[in-house]
Amino acid sequence: MAVPKRKTSPSRRGMRRSHDALSISAFQECPNCGELKRPHNLCTACGHYNGREIVSVEG
Ligand SMILES: [Zn+2]
Repeated sequence: MAVPKRKTSPSRRGMRRSHDALSISAFQECPNCGELKRPHNLCTACGHYNGREIVSVEG
């Protein structure tokens, strides 16, 4: 089995992990109710998409 010759230093380990961060998912304000929603997705608060109601939300 291949084995690393040297211990990975904290600096090297940090350099490797500099690419590991998760990206923040995109959010837009719903033009109908102003709630934050995912772009290109139905608004979960009011059920609107593309200027009209797709599903009715109770209440
Ligand atoms: Zn909405």
